[in-house]
Amino acid sequence: MNLKEKMKRRLKLNRPSLRARARPPKQRTALGQQFTAANLPVSLSMQVCTACEHHQYPPAELCGHCLGDTLRYQEVDTAGQLLSRSELHHSLWEFFKRRIRTKPWPIGSVKLRNGPVVIGHLGEDTLQTGDDVAVFSHSDASQASVLIIVSAGTPIATPEQREHIVAALNLKQPAEKQGGI
Ligand SMILES: [Zn+2]
Repeated sequence: MNLKEKMKRRLKLNRPSLRARARPPKQRTALGQQFTAANLPVSLSMQVCTACEHHQYPPAELCGHCLGDTLRYQEVDTAGQLLSRSELHHSLWEFFKRRIRTKPWPIGSVKLRNGPVVIGHLGEDTLQTGDDVAVFSHSDASQASVLIIVSAGTPIATPEQREHIVAALNLKQPAEKQGGI
């Protein structure tokens, strides 16, 4: 690698705003990586305690209810109720900075019927607090799993249906910059 390429690589690393393609955060803990892997083939998979059936989210080493240490991933019910919604008007992350320039980024929290409260990207602008919703997981442009919230009636049974929703959110595509490096 010559000096010019070296400098370009360093600049790209240190100045995300110059990148031709910015992606969402890809860093995950080891437990977060397990969550991503477990969720690849299904709409929503979660740790369930083999001792007490507690549904655990976010993933942890021990059961939050009985401290049991045998938590197994299994496909779980996606149904829940929207607790609150909000819009991000500012982000320190370049991917979201670029997305937010077009319009604020909607997020929400959901109380799942099987217990946990989760935070996710709102797949539909029209969702309101109290609405019946469904939550599914999907890999984003950084190949890391994120949660998407849609109204209860939205079809999410097939990978194609889920992919379509995530693509419409612009989460599968890097945020591009003309003339970036
Ligand atoms: Zn337990």
